[in-house]
Amino acid sequence: MDRFETVAAGDGASLRDLLAAIDRSGHGFALLTDADGRMLRTVTDGDVRRVLLAGAALDGDIAQLPALTSLTVEEGTPRRQALALMDEHRIDQLPVLDADGRVVEVLDRREIEKPILLSTPHMGDAELVYVEEAFRTNWIAPLGPNVDAFEKSIARIAGVAHAAALSSGTAAIHLALVLLGVKHGDTVFCSSFTFAASCNPIVYQSATPVFIDSDEASWNMSPVALERALAAAKARGALPKAVIAVNLYGQSADYDPIMALCDAYGVALVEDAAESLGARYKGKPSGSFGLLAAFSFNGNKIITTSGGGMLVSDDSEMIERARFLSTQARDPAPHYEHSVIGYNYRMSNILAGVGRGQLQVLDERVVARRAVRDAYADGLGDVPGLAWMPEPDWSFSTRWLSCATIDPDAAGISASELITRLAEEMIEARPLWKPMHRQPVFAGCDYVTEGNASVSDRLFETGICLPSGSNMAPAEIDRIVDTLRNILAG
Ligand SMILES: *Cc1c(COP(=O)(O)O)cnc(C)c1O
Repeated sequence: MDRFETVAAGDGASLRDLLAAIDRSGHGFALLTDADGRMLRTVTDGDVRRVLLAGAALDGDIAQLPALTSLTVEEGTPRRQALALMDEHRIDQLPVLDADGRVVEVLDRREIEKPILLSTPHMGDAELVYVEEAFRTNWIAPLGPNVDAFEKSIARIAGVAHAAALSSGTAAIHLALVLLGVKHGDTVFCSSFTFAASCNPIVYQSATPVFIDSDEASWNMSPVALERALAAAKARGALPKAVIAVNLYGQSADYDPIMALCDAYGVALVEDAAESLGARYKGKPSGSFGLLAAFSFNGNKIITTSGGGMLVSDDSEMIERARFLSTQARDPAPHYEHSVIGYNYRMSNILAGVGRGQLQVLDERVVARRAVRDAYADGLGDVPGLAWMPEPDWSFSTRWLSCATIDPDAAGISASELITRLAEEMIEARPLWKPMHRQPVFAGCDYVTEGNASVSDRLFETGICLPSGSNMAPAEIDRIVDTLRNILAG
């Protein structure tokens, strides 16, 4: 609460003064303090009314108010705890006192019960226009003008010739593997440090994943580890059918060496660009490096269609085939004729309308997400033990999420403790992705690192993602910075 009114007892303050203070406060109560500013009690309209009705004079001394112990909390009480107290006592405001008993602020339920979330959808102005047009023209099906226009725009942004709009990023990765002929008995290499949707489609195809560690420079697939894995696979006579390189947290992988290796070994490269729409590698857009690349428009991504994805490629036949497979693989015939297994993976024209609107603000969203990370870095630059996700010279990251690692010795707290402390302040932070080679469901899969150390394990054990939404208010970012400073200094 920005403003609260206090009235000091003792210097002749009257009940009228108190009522005037309550009136000025605009929220129905004022705080009564002693002559030294220490809080005595809260006073509401009703409290004054009752002493007046009991016979006190309006200009009489406020000492006529009965003593009362009002509920307060000490400075530094976690928000979640303060909120629990307010719930328990059915109150909406709670004074916060310093060690001397002076009021430093008054917590207001409406302000503190709103958590700051990691990454929430951020709509622009044009989405509804396209959605309404879809309704007006009855293009509700998984085809129509919004789908066509959204595909063209994404292809342009990704610097590729063709795009197929799908129901999810996972569907896009799955179709990429189907198009590449991945099947039972094949292996597919995939970054270990990622979200499970990168590699689940390998198993949908009954193939076997092999996980590749990250490098320190980009946190994405290590070309050194990839080379080791490819050389070993070749020696066994079992090269993978594909390599899935993931661009995490808005940052591209190091594609020059990765593409050179894939070319040298004759293995197809799939780019999981679900988290990196708008990012660049050496000036070239994310999504333009793989033979096929996948984007996601899930609710937490930098732009969203509430749920959706896109498969992109320069290969027109592959994208045509993806459209065919994603709409149940109907052969051309007057009746329903099928010669291969299809999928129901196409994006609806309504959701594509949301995507068209969102694309108009993509550049703004990138600027905003980068600014969030800059605000953290500026506000926390001198905090020991905190290191931001590196951004190599060749990278232009969207910084979809603001990520850091915590050195527990220097910071005095581990990443997981920090996440718990932030949760108590109603600030949602999360660990970095848990590597796939450590997931129970992928137990027994091979994992290849550069050398003895595992980078993805270290990142998981020490990493943290902070709230990164492009729609966060400056005051929310300030609150996160202040809270982090308090925790990390303590
Ligand atoms: C979100 C995400 C996906 C999956 O996208 P959906 O649209 O949610 O299916 C795949 N890979 C990565 C790295 C992601 O972050």
